[in-house]
Amino acid sequence: MLNKTKVVVTIGPSTMEKEQIKRLMLGGMDVARLNMSHSNYSFCTDIIEKINELNEELHLSIAIMLDLEGPEVRTGKFLNGQAYFRQGDKIRIYMDEVIGDSTKFSVNYSNLIKEVTHNSIIKVKDGMMSFEVIDIKNDCIICEVLTDGVIENHQTVKVEGVKLKLPKMSTKDETDVVFAHKLNVDFIALSYVCSQEDVLAVSDILIRLKNDHIGLISKIETEEAVNNLDEIVRVSDGIMVARGDLGVDIPIERVPGVQKKIIDKCHKAGIISIVATELLSSMERTNRPTRAEVSDVANAVLDGADAVMLSNETTIGKYPIETLTMMEKIINSAEKDIDYIEFIKNKEDRENNITGMISHSVVECASKLDCCAIIAPTMSGYTARMMSNCRPSCPIIAVSPSEATVKSLQLHFAVNPVLIDEIKDFDKIIEVSKKVTFELISTQPGDRIIITGGYPFNEVKSTNFMKIEEL
Ligand code: PEP
Repeated sequence: MLNKTKVVVTIGPSTMEKEQIKRLMLGGMDVARLNMSHSNYSFCTDIIEKINELNEELHLSIAIMLDLEGPEVRTGKFLNGQAYFRQGDKIRIYMDEVIGDSTKFSVNYSNLIKEVTHNSIIKVKDGMMSFEVIDIKNDCIICEVLTDGVIENHQTVKVEGVKLKLPKMSTKDETDVVFAHKLNVDFIALSYVCSQEDVLAVSDILIRLKNDHIGLISKIETEEAVNNLDEIVRVSDGIMVARGDLGVDIPIERVPGVQKKIIDKCHKAGIISIVATELLSSMERTNRPTRAEVSDVANAVLDGADAVMLSNETTIGKYPIETLTMMEKIINSAEKDIDYIEFIKNKEDRENNITGMISHSVVECASKLDCCAIIAPTMSGYTARMMSNCRPSCPIIAVSPSEATVKSLQLHFAVNPVLIDEIKDFDKIIEVSKKVTFELISTQPGDRIIITGGYPFNEVKSTNFMKIEEL
């Protein structure tokens, strides 16, 4: 199944064994995500090593995303990893670390005690659990439990209607960026981005480290970020609609509209959009999704997202492989309903330069001539990104001798990046294009491909040719 919509899979206890990672890689995972809110360095190093080994073994180039914890408040640990809270019970929230149970838990933000007042509502676990403040002591906050439910280790903590005075960038995040650079990851996801300055702060660290290849994905999870979307889009390589936290910070019923607006803005700006969280949530426990979840995944595809993401389904879920298989099936079916001609017609604001014009023509030709693939030889990934942004009906096979480029393209709609040896000669590129097409797609004699790029390779900066070949 050569789907065009990409899948980001979060790795956790359910998927940390090499055999499971291999199944995910063969089953359609394009990018493996490591969530620094729940993972330590030894876990990340182990997973990255396994992925690197499997990339070699399977001749794949699965990319890695490190998701920073961001300035957020989280619960501490619980006895046996979780505790049940009953509506109406009085519980204590401590600022100093304690092992939690049904009567108490701690948080990692000591100023919380100063920033809440009587009757503040404390929301835990993406807003699933609510606690009302009824008293404030020297070392703890006393609350009444408003909803029955279970809380596990390290769940998010928010205060309704209050912007906590957390530092913009934590020392942990700064150290994690350096770790991401050392381990040569491909994307960093930035939690709780509120403005372009938050993105530029991470960019500055990477510039100091002389790292020019890590793509920055800004997670939109607050009202402030929604309001500052234009400036955030301008400095990001991609945007993640982080619906878990977003649905706590803004009224949950606004999330679908905001999601559509973000996908549209990203598409117009030519950057990646990722729809995240609870897409197939019920598959954490059962091996079939609900109709509403199937619709949610399909709608993200029909709206034109570049990628969708699995979180708890694959970190702690019982059916991680089945969930990915289901995701791929839904994507495959939804992609048949995309009106590609309409997409390209609507892309009237195309860039009026040579690459913009060629990309538009290539994608239009590919649809109208029913081509089976567009082949884009590329050094920087520019041609492939431009083609992807025009939303072709067929796959784009981006061939490049640069491993960093190949991995950077893993999140772009329709792009199947393939690592090849360096090529200088034009005839050779035609030969290689046909060869990779035969390897990736089942073709019939007479099928057409379009080869497009900038020639002489390595010398020109723009896309300047398109060639239609019959197989
Ligand atoms: C989210 O809030 O939806 C999200 C993707 O972020 P995290 O998994 O870090 O909570």
